[in-house]
Amino acid sequence: MSQEGLTPVQFTWRDGRLLQLKSLQLDAAPQLMVLPRLVDPHVHLDKAFSWQDHPNLSGTYDGALAANLEEHQTRSEAAVLARGERALQRACRHGLRALRSHIDSVGPGAEPSWRALQQLRERWKGSIDLQLVALVPLAHWQTPAGERLAAQVADWGGMLGGVLAPPCGGSAVRRHLAALLTLAERFHCAVDLHIDEADRDPASGLKQLLRVQERLHCRQRITCSHASSLSLLPPASLRKLAERMAAAGLQVVALPLTNGWLLGRVPDSTPVQRPLAPIHQLQRCGVRVAVGGDNVADPWFPGGDFDPLALMAASIPLAQLAPWQRLGLAPFTTAAAEAMELSWNGVLCEGAPADLVVLQAGTWSEALRRPPQRRVLIGGSWWQPSGR
Ligand SMILES: [Zn+2]
Repeated sequence: MSQEGLTPVQFTWRDGRLLQLKSLQLDAAPQLMVLPRLVDPHVHLDKAFSWQDHPNLSGTYDGALAANLEEHQTRSEAAVLARGERALQRACRHGLRALRSHIDSVGPGAEPSWRALQQLRERWKGSIDLQLVALVPLAHWQTPAGERLAAQVADWGGMLGGVLAPPCGGSAVRRHLAALLTLAERFHCAVDLHIDEADRDPASGLKQLLRVQERLHCRQRITCSHASSLSLLPPASLRKLAERMAAAGLQVVALPLTNGWLLGRVPDSTPVQRPLAPIHQLQRCGVRVAVGGDNVADPWFPGGDFDPLALMAASIPLAQLAPWQRLGLAPFTTAAAEAMELSWNGVLCEGAPADLVVLQAGTWSEALRRPPQRRVLIGGSWWQPSGR
């Protein structure tokens, strides 16, 4: 085994499944690295690549929201289809096998977005699993329209989402959350919230969610996306909160790229405070944590490319996640697959799907210096980008 924890192995497969892995003794350093096809538990396919027409040049959260709302007014099914297809082509080529996309689900762009992404989900079946989440203002779930949306989303096999950002105080927020969790339970839908994506009021949304969940005991999987402001809590408070989160069955998706760009801004200054979900501290208390890419070339973030290797490379400086450590790699592999409740958690073993990403890199350092060239194996066949 190398110092980076890599070991030479021979892969063979039959009928789309891996056969027994064989250890190899090599005289020379290996030239290729093999990973399971990876997953991204948090993206926004409905608005990907909309930056060009709707940029947010200020780089602020409020600027992003304003540009997003403007784009949503004129969003068409054809536009979302084109953007989503482009996104999934790139995702597949880069080695992703599953993505969870939030969809802006209130306003004129909601229906066209759902129609387009459901078509894409069908079109890509067998190559990419696509999970869809209805993203709405939290209060919407307490209205008759929200109830109708929940029934529809359940019908479509989707999930319920929402935004919980400061100010999150007061009983009204708990009533909205209770309405959401009650609908989730009634329609058997998992929940994925944008929560505490903020650089103030540490964990104010999570504290409200815990109060409601500890009372209602919703049995559907609840994902807390962002959870950035938790990092501003003093260590002892964070530990207590994380222990409650673990006991309540909450899981976290950290989103370092968008957080790094939007949060902790002080005009004309380089940021000193960098709110990001406290990944290591949460893991230590038994909370499952995955890392996602979030926005790609939309008003919320100008970069990104649905490339899990580029995300891993960016997470080295932003989150100090080292892929040669088990808990540094899990957020991109097993924890991410388990967070999405996929049937395969990505462990390469006999009988696992022959779903591999083969990198032109012999070491982690080489793989992360620049996004490496790669080939993608899906169900035992090499994927051809031009074949679609
Ligand atoms: Zn998001």
